Amino acid sequence: MTENRAPAQYCPYCGETNLWPHEDSHGAWRCGDCYRVFAVRFIGVAGRGGDPVGVPAAGSTGPDVSA
Ligand SMILES: [Zn+2]
Repeated sequence: MTENRAPAQYCPYCGETNLWPHEDSHGAWRCGDCYRVFAVRFIGVAGRGGDPVGVPAAGSTGPDVSA
């Protein structure tokens, strides 16, 4: 699976930038300052109301914009 996103820039726990790919988990990062391991997960695209909209199912043509 291709990761089509930018790498993490800051540790979400301590705010440092000393991040390294975590060898044991795909898409996970290890902070070199606080030693936490974390992953960033894509949930969906937020609508105008701020509610997350699910990722379109396979075969879907995407959001209905004709309404
Ligand atoms: Zn950290």
